[in-house]
Amino acid sequence: MQSEIKNCQNCKKDFTIEPDDFGFYEKIVVPPPTFCPECRMQRRMMFRNGHTLYKRECDLCKKNIISIYPTNAPFPVYCQKCWWSDNWDPCQYGIEFDFSKNFFEQLKELSLIVPALSITNDNEVASVNCEYTYDWFFSKNCYMCVSGWHAENVLYSFHIEHNKDMLDCMHMREAELAYECLQCYKIARSKYCTYCSECQDCFLGYDLSGCLNCIMCIGLRNKSYCIKNKQYTKEEYEIKLKKMNLSNFYSVEKYKKEFKDFCSNFPHKYSYIKKSVISTGDFLINCKNVKYAFQVINGENQRFIFGSDTTKDTYDSLMSGKAEQCYEVVVADNSQRNYFSVFCFQCRDIYYSLFSPSAENCFGCVGMKKGSYSILNKKYNKEEYENLKEKIIEHMKKTKEFGEFFPYWISPFAYNESEAQELFPLTKKEVEDKGYCWRDADLRDYKVTLPIDQLPEDINDIKDNIIQEIISCGHNGKCNHNCTTAFRVLQNELGLYKKLNIPIPHLCPNCRYFERVEKRNPPRLWHRKCMKEGCNNEFETSYAPERPEIVYCEACYQKEIY
Ligand SMILES: [Zn+2]
Ligand SMILES: [Zn+2]
Ligand SMILES: [Zn+2]
Ligand SMILES: [Zn+2]
Ligand SMILES: [Zn+2]
Repeated sequence: MQSEIKNCQNCKKDFTIEPDDFGFYEKIVVPPPTFCPECRMQRRMMFRNGHTLYKRECDLCKKNIISIYPTNAPFPVYCQKCWWSDNWDPCQYGIEFDFSKNFFEQLKELSLIVPALSITNDNEVASVNCEYTYDWFFSKNCYMCVSGWHAENVLYSFHIEHNKDMLDCMHMREAELAYECLQCYKIARSKYCTYCSECQDCFLGYDLSGCLNCIMCIGLRNKSYCIKNKQYTKEEYEIKLKKMNLSNFYSVEKYKKEFKDFCSNFPHKYSYIKKSVISTGDFLINCKNVKYAFQVINGENQRFIFGSDTTKDTYDSLMSGKAEQCYEVVVADNSQRNYFSVFCFQCRDIYYSLFSPSAENCFGCVGMKKGSYSILNKKYNKEEYENLKEKIIEHMKKTKEFGEFFPYWISPFAYNESEAQELFPLTKKEVEDKGYCWRDADLRDYKVTLPIDQLPEDINDIKDNIIQEIISCGHNGKCNHNCTTAFRVLQNELGLYKKLNIPIPHLCPNCRYFERVEKRNPPRLWHRKCMKEGCNNEFETSYAPERPEIVYCEACYQKEIY
């Protein structure tokens, strides 16, 4: 079979379907996609909201809760205890499939009557003190975190696994005492690091591996006591380190800028891919035949992936771990043969379902915890199920629904509160022109008790009563970061700042998060040529052609490493 160029039904740009891809679609018996990989990723991201939380009531027990849905959501919302309890049965909402209507219309109707879980975490079940987290499991004392598990004392972080004592980090694995780090694994006592592995006590590092005690270094391997890639003795290093005054906000800002300029003189490797073969994307570790993939660890035979761990034979997945033979899924953890679903984890053989954990053989179900042989939440015997399922698939082929992920109007979230806004930002007008929903932020009138310019510059001058203050955000709402205009410092947060000897940030958590997203390479690939003179190697890179970085192929980059 040959590759085929198709025109995306959404953005109208051309995209290629490779022979391998056709093999996958044939194996799982779905037609090839009509959207390009990027539009498919955007469509999936519209179904996640980890950063806009609301205070509301549980519609069953009336307790005050934190939820990803506002009070005026058009469906009932239950707290953790109520949702998981036997006090309601998802089958009671079951509806008969109507062949005179489209499938998605009927699924939407169902999604408006079945109770939704207030927020996707396991607080008070397997996690402790993690009320303000989303897509977060088996953890302790975490706050404002999204997508992770096995974490302890972690705050304001996104996509992390097996981490302890850290703040403001993104795409991290097995780290301890880390601050403002991006795409690192196995690091400890390190701050402001990107693409670093097996490092300790590093400050402002970029692509370091096996380094100890390094400051403002790039591309080093197994080095100690280096500053700006220059070797010092332990004694010299310690004297210099003391003089740097890294507990002071303004000196850290100065070094951040200095390091940025320093890095711009060095070549960058086209992509961060480690211990991997025949793979393309960025931040891939231990992968085999994984392509167009980002933030993936231990993957095999995957395509079009964002965030995955120990997953194989899977296409088009967003934030899934231990998944096998899945397609077009959002959080399909511990699943097999899971197709077109959102938050259906621990599932087998399911299609087109929303939030139905531990379901098997379900089609078009909503909130069907532990369901089996059900269609639109109505239960059937095995034979009836298989027959009806095949008929519905035929029906959906005629309506051109089969093979497509859910359209946006099935999502319960406004576009600008969904994760799509982070990677595919749109203005209010663009959102409305496309027929998506926009939600204006609730009016914020926090009574600031400490303007940011009065915050002591040095962490050593911060008193314990700082936790009572409401501090103004340095962006003051004048940005596109969903700025909360003010923020607080929590008790355990202050403890970490002191332990790590870092100054208190000047921005609210949302502004910090969006600045980190802007710093990370986008989940897109461009075909480019190595910029080293005389080298003709080509590669797929997440560095866009117009970017200022000097981008080298693996071989040329290796030669530059000290
Ligand atoms: Zn497209
Ligand atoms: Zn409740
Ligand atoms: Zn802000
Ligand atoms: Zn901002
Ligand atoms: Zn080269």
